[in-house]
Amino acid sequence: MEEDLTTDLVVLQSHLESMLERVQKNSVTLQKFQAFEMRLLKLNSLSDTIDHLLDEAKNYFDLDMISLCLIDETGEISKTLTDNGYPCSSIIGLILLNSREPLKASNISPYIGAYESSRCADFFPHIERQPASVAITPLTRRSKYLGTLNLGSYQPDRFADTMATDFIEHLSSVVSVCLENNLNFEEIRRVSYVDTLTGVNNRRFLEQRIGEEVHGCQRAAEPLSCQFFDIDFFKSVNDTYGHQGGDQVLSVVAAAIKNQLRDNDVFVRYGGEEFVALLSNTNEAKALEIAERVRKAIEMLTISFNGISTSVTVSIGVSTYMPNRKSTSISDEVATRLIKSADSALYKAKHNGRNRVENGGVILA
Ligand code: GH3
Ligand code: MG
Ligand code: MG
Repeated sequence: MEEDLTTDLVVLQSHLESMLERVQKNSVTLQKFQAFEMRLLKLNSLSDTIDHLLDEAKNYFDLDMISLCLIDETGEISKTLTDNGYPCSSIIGLILLNSREPLKASNISPYIGAYESSRCADFFPHIERQPASVAITPLTRRSKYLGTLNLGSYQPDRFADTMATDFIEHLSSVVSVCLENNLNFEEIRRVSYVDTLTGVNNRRFLEQRIGEEVHGCQRAAEPLSCQFFDIDFFKSVNDTYGHQGGDQVLSVVAAAIKNQLRDNDVFVRYGGEEFVALLSNTNEAKALEIAERVRKAIEMLTISFNGISTSVTVSIGVSTYMPNRKSTSISDEVATRLIKSADSALYKAKHNGRNRVENGGVILA
């Protein structure tokens, strides 16, 4: 009898210990989760949110791999990230989909269980070793399907189809809210930097970027060139063809200039019929050569609207900044001088007969 009681006590004690151990483990998991969540909620850019998910979640939750699929049917997410200097195409674990078709199967509910190639491979591309178990959870917000968050583990029992899904559902809800917030914010910011008539960036975008461009070329000890464009006798285009005709000319000219530049060059409508380009790592000679190429391309353009065809020319002022070694010049001051110098050169081009390129020279600072 006494022996039986002792055995029962030992069993009970062991149960109690394992329960305590589980409670402690859960408490640690909960603390980690709260820390992860707090950090996630504080991030206010899409790229930081993606980095936090892909880099940090693995450590917080002891995962072997994590990936994020985002539906990007219009390509705007990719463009926004690229514009912000985020190398989205080379981020391992980030999958931007231009169609929601591949995610159809996971549209309705999460998949939690063993890794099956046919079902899971698309969510874990470029991996050296397959996970044994996975959780693929849809990210939705206000009935909008944003993508999926995909967690993988080499342990077969880490994600089992019998496990409670509340933790994963909570995680995907928090991630969805953060992603939606940041996507909306980036969209508003993107729209506020675009000129509605021509579709190119506006002066606000130049003001936001020029300091960074100057700073970047100081760091790399590379030249930065500026081109200031102004359409010649544009007032007479309006007078002859009306404002709508003028608007069409502005759109076509903007597209033609942009076409001659690199994708990562900053190019904006500065105001009215004036445009500005910033060419990073471009010296004086190259900037003048490009300006001349643009001038010729515009001169050759035939612009049509309402069955009428016309052509225009542009005058261009060019300036270049060459940072001194270990330059500490204030970037805003350099930016103002760079624009001013290109604007003065443009004035000279107008004065010297229009449809020409003039050089404002090199600023050394
Ligand atoms: P210049 O060769 O000296 O540059 O002469 P210009 O006629 O091009 O220059 P001016 O500054 O006298 O005229 C610019 C005109 O651009 C005046 C303005 O009505 C017109 N403009 C400004 N913004 C817009 C716009 O959004 N649409 C249209 N259609 N016209 C615009
Ligand atoms: Mg003007
Ligand atoms: Mg003009």
